[in-house]
Amino acid sequence: MSAKILDGREIALKLGAQIKKKVAQLKKQYGEPPRLASIFIGENPATKLYIASQQKVADGVGIEFQSCQFPNDISQKEVVERVDRLNRDSQVTGLILHFPLPDQINRSEILRHVNPLKDVDGLTPENAGQILLGRVRIGSCTAQAVMELIHATGVDLRGKEAVIVGHSELVGKPVGLMLLEHLATVTTCHIATNERGYLADHVKRAEVLVVAVGKPGLIQGDWIRPGAVVIDVGISRVNGRVVGDVEYEKAVQRAGYITPVPGGVGPLTVMMLMRNVVKAYKFQRTAED
Ligand code: NAP
Repeated sequence: MSAKILDGREIALKLGAQIKKKVAQLKKQYGEPPRLASIFIGENPATKLYIASQQKVADGVGIEFQSCQFPNDISQKEVVERVDRLNRDSQVTGLILHFPLPDQINRSEILRHVNPLKDVDGLTPENAGQILLGRVRIGSCTAQAVMELIHATGVDLRGKEAVIVGHSELVGKPVGLMLLEHLATVTTCHIATNERGYLADHVKRAEVLVVAVGKPGLIQGDWIRPGAVVIDVGISRVNGRVVGDVEYEKAVQRAGYITPVPGGVGPLTVMMLMRNVVKAYKFQRTAED
């Protein structure tokens, strides 16, 4: 058996066409385009690539794009001031802050300063908290991309064994809450699960497996339960190739559905960012919630 490939690019293209229409309508109605400010600190080649891809996708759907590079030695106070300026700028619809941050910058404190109505990455306490309450107002782009891919399989999540590997605020935790909302039975694995040698046992039970760690080959292909839905979020570069966390060649023989890396979660994550910008634009103008 060979798995059906979950093509994130194809789903993103379809969604992009809908977003483009919505953006055109909003421009007509309110007279100005949505604008995304993408903030990064210092020089990180992976972030630069991600930002270039955001710019391309934003251009494609008609969202204005503003790249904001801050110097690596910028102080916490200065970042807060610049974020406040973007919060106050009525032309800026949404802002996203890229990680990792330099050591002198406190991530939680910066996120507390982002206006939740402009937080298009869903990481402020308000937006992250909404997910706990079973509502996705503006949710994590990556977590929403994962859910779109799972829904694209048509698999009913009710009572399914869902296993997540990785418990970050950006991916693992919100995906866990979203799966729970669909009444999946959720297990979250992390570094300590692996340290105790239990990772394989959990993964082998998974009917839906989401892996977001960033360690190539962490999930062995023969751990995959036959027929499982496998969503590989990991992105690493090995010998010039981009790879995920799952041993793809073996996993594809056992899974029912699987995301490729690249071409799975990544392109859809960028499109979810655009969808969040459109949502933010509407919330700001209609107080619709
Ligand atoms: P992160 O914040 O570093 O989180 C990684 C998680 O994996 C942590 O919960 C960590 O646990 C856990 N972990 C580390 N080693 C492990 C092991 N050996 N076994 C089990 N769990 C382990 O990273 P992230 O932001 O969630 O991103 C994860 C990966 O997804 C990265 O490769 C990133 O580049 C990629 N990513 C892709 C997209 C996309 O659009 N495709 C978007 C975002 C991220 P501890 O914290 O306890 O160590």
